[in-house]
Amino acid sequence: MTDLVIIGGGPAGMSAACAAYESGISDIMILEREESPGGILKQCIHNGFGLHRFGEELTGPEYAWRYEQKVREYNIPVKTGTMVLSVSPEKKVVATNSEDGIFEISAKAIILAMGCRERPRGALMTPGTRPAGIYTAGAAQKFVNMKGLMPGREVVILGSGDIGLIMARRMTLEGAKVKAVCELMPYSGGLARNIEQCLHDFDIPLKLSHTIVEIHGRERLTGVTIARVDENRKPILETKEYISCDTLLLSVGLLPENELTLGIGATMDGVTGGAVVDGARQTDVPGIFACGNVLHVHDLVDFVSEEAEIAGRSAAAYIKGDMKKETEIKVQAGFGVRYTVPQRICENKDTDVFFRVGDVYRRVKMVVYKDGEAVYTKKKQKVAPGEMERITIKEDMLLDAKTITVALEVEQ
Ligand SMILES: Cc1cc2nc3c(=O)[nH]c(=O)nc-3n(C[C@H](O)[C@H](O)[C@H](O)COP(=O)(O)OP(=O)(O)OC[C@H]3O[C@@H](n4cnc5c(N)ncnc54)[C@H](O)[C@@H]3O)c2cc1C
Repeated sequence: MTDLVIIGGGPAGMSAACAAYESGISDIMILEREESPGGILKQCIHNGFGLHRFGEELTGPEYAWRYEQKVREYNIPVKTGTMVLSVSPEKKVVATNSEDGIFEISAKAIILAMGCRERPRGALMTPGTRPAGIYTAGAAQKFVNMKGLMPGREVVILGSGDIGLIMARRMTLEGAKVKAVCELMPYSGGLARNIEQCLHDFDIPLKLSHTIVEIHGRERLTGVTIARVDENRKPILETKEYISCDTLLLSVGLLPENELTLGIGATMDGVTGGAVVDGARQTDVPGIFACGNVLHVHDLVDFVSEEAEIAGRSAAAYIKGDMKKETEIKVQAGFGVRYTVPQRICENKDTDVFFRVGDVYRRVKMVVYKDGEAVYTKKKQKVAPGEMERITIKEDMLLDAKTITVALEVEQ
C-alpha cells in the first residue's frame, strides 16, 4: 500500500507531490506516461511562466525544472513511461510500462493530474478534403520546439486560444508567413497579453467572427476558404474569401483528460469537463483529489501549481485522518458566469473560487450572493471568457450558508 499515488507528472502532479511531502507525507509515487516529467511545459519554450509564482519570467521547461528539482530533492519517485489504465473508487490503480508489464498499486489517497488534450479537427466538422498539413497548434508546437521540424511555410490558424497565438508568433519567428488567425467568436479566446505580444507585434491579422468554411487540397493542403459569421455563428456566404496556405493550425479548445475520472464514477461538471470538487479539491469519491488542467482548463501554469498545492495538502490531511468536513455549501454560477471551481465548500475558512464568464462584459460588478442575498461585490472594468477570474469567499460569508452564487451585474 502506497500512501499517495499521483497520476500525471506535469506541473500539477509535481506541485501536488511537493505540497503533500511538505505536509508530512513521504510515501508518494508519481506515475507519468511520458519519458520525463514536466507535462506540456516541455514544449512551451517561450517565456512568461512563473511571473505570479516566482516573480520572474521563465520558459516552460525552466518552470517545470524548478518543480522537478524539488521532487528529486524530496526523493519522490517518478515512474516514467508508465500509463495508468484505470483507477477504482477503492483506490486501486492499474498501470503498465515496459519493465513491469501490467501492475496494480493500492493507495490511501490519489491525486488526478492528467492535464488536458487539444480538440482535434474531427470535432469541428469543417467541410472539405482531408489533406496533410492540418495540425493542432500543440502538435505543431512539439514539431517545431522539440523536434526541429517545420510543419509548413504558409499558415492559417483557426481559433485564437493561447496556444494558437503563441504558435502564430513561433511560426513567424521560424520564417513562415502566418496569413490570418480566424476566430469564430467576436472576441479572442486568448489572454490580452498574448494578443499584443504574439499578433499585434508581428502584424498578424486577427479576423474575429470568422471561420473556415472549406478546406482545399488532395495530398497536401493548398488553401482554405474563410467567411464572416453572423450573430448566430452561421457563415455569411457572400463574405467568402480564399486564402492559399500549406498549413492549418487548430487552436479550438482544450479537453480535460478525464477517462480515468469517469471510470472511478466521480460526479462530473458538464461545463468544465472535470470532476466536481470541494474547496480541498476532493471529488465526491473520498480520498480522490483532482487539480490542474484535468479539473478545469487554466490560463497560466502559476495557478495550476497553486491549485495543485491545495490538492497535495488536502490529500496529506486525508491520509493523516485530519480532513475537516465542517459544512456543505453548494457554489453555483449565476448570471454571466459559466462555471465555478470549487463547486462545493466543506470547510469554514476563506476560500478562493475560480470562475469564467460567458461573454465579454465591460464595467461589471462581480457579486457573491449568500442564499440569494448579495454579501460582496467587486468592480472590474472588463471581463472576458479567455481570462479566468477569482474571488475570495471570506469565512464570515460562509456562516450558516446553504448556497453561494457568483454572478455578474452589468452597469447599463
Ligand atoms: C499544447 C499546449 C500548450 C500550452 N501552452 C501554455 C503556455 O504557453 N502557457 C501556460 O501557462 N499554459 C499553457 N498550456 C496550459 C498548460 O497545459 C498548463 O499551464 C499546465 O501545463 C497544466 O499542467 P497539468 O499538470 O495540469 O497538465 P500537463 O502539463 O498536461 O500534465 C499532465 C501530465 O499527465 C500525464 N498523463 C495524462 N494521462 C496519464 C495517464 N493515464 N497515465 C500517466 N500519465 C498521464 C501526461 O503525460 C502529462 O505529462 C498549454 C497546454 C497545451 C495543451
